[in-house]
This record gives sequence, structure tokens and C-alpha cells, in this order.
Amino acid sequence: MKKIAIYPGTFDPITNGHLDLVKRAIRIFDEVIIAVAPSHKKQPLFTVQERLVLIKAAIKGFKKTKVEAFNDLLVEYVKKKKGNSILRGLRAISDFEYEFQMAHMNRRLSTDMETVFVMPSEEYSFLTSSVVKEIASFGGSVKGLVPEEVEIALKEKFTIQKDIPE
Ligand code: ADP
Repeated sequence: MKKIAIYPGTFDPITNGHLDLVKRAIRIFDEVIIAVAPSHKKQPLFTVQERLVLIKAAIKGFKKTKVEAFNDLLVEYVKKKKGNSILRGLRAISDFEYEFQMAHMNRRLSTDMETVFVMPSEEYSFLTSSVVKEIASFGGSVKGLVPEEVEIALKEKFTIQKDIPE
């Protein structure tokens, strides 16, 4: 049976930490599907379409990896994709409580899949999309933290935002 992992998240925007996780997952799974959730509650900076374009550029050349948007209940989406695992990242203890809750809830909703946690490289352990946005919003450099396309997109976003009078 093909081992397919679904990697769900907001990816607003994708960072080198997310990519580090995908690279590790490719070694375990036959296919990794990055699944972008709209996450309206989080009021994302980038639209789903923009996030998809940025991820597509970032995973160019990656084997066995693709990206899609999804809007269903996660377990239903995983079934639809014939997936058997949900991939999530664990950076620090602070991630644990939320991830623990989600994994148990998803297990309650479906017993056909497992949540698999992967740790990123140490250098990305404190990297979040929120921190990246915060730095970029003040004109700071996010080089090395995100793919180049994301760096450019962040600059553009915040230049446009600055042009809008408060
Ligand atoms: P969500 O809104 O689902 O938390 P995120 O895009 O913030 O979406 O994160 C998606 C997944 O990627 C989560 O499991 C998160 O722990 C993981 N993740 C985020 N940043 C990193 C990172 N720097 N290293 C490893 N995993 C990460």
C-alpha cells in the first residue's frame, strides 16, 4: 500500500522550517501532500491562492511532493486522498499541548490514520510564520528563514501595506 502523508497547515507563509519537515517526511513516505487550510480565523496575510503559488515555487524539484488547498474536515480530506498519515511538526514543548489535543481529536474522528510528528533541524526550532511576518513588517531581513520567493512576496506585501494611509 502506498504510504501517503497529508501535511496540513496554514503556511502563511511557508518557511524553511516547513520545508525541512517535508524533506524529512519524503524519506519516510511515498508521497507527501501539503494541504493548505484557509484558516480565516487567523486572518492570514496571504490568500490561499498566494500561499499555493509560493509553496509550488518552494517545492520545485522536490520528489513525491505536491500541494493543494482543502476546506473539509481534515480526516475526510485525508480519506479522500487515500492518505494514511497526518504529518505535523513538533518544534518545542510549547507545540505539544495543542498538537496532542488535535491528534486525539482526529483519532476519535477516524481510526484509519495516524498523526506522525517530525522534529525539524535545531536551527528551525524557533521559527514560526508569525515571527517571520513580524520581522518583515518592520523591514527586517528574513533571509535564510524562508525561501527566496517568500522573501520577495513579504517585501511586496509590506510595501503595499505601508502605502495605504492609516
Ligand atoms: P497551523 O495553523 O496548522 O498551526 P502552520 O502553518 O503554522 O499551521 O503549521 C503547520 C505545521 O507545521 C504544524 O504542525 C507546525 O507545528 C509545523 N511547523 C511550523 N513551523 C515549523 C518549523 N519551523 N519547523 C517544523 N515544523 C513547523
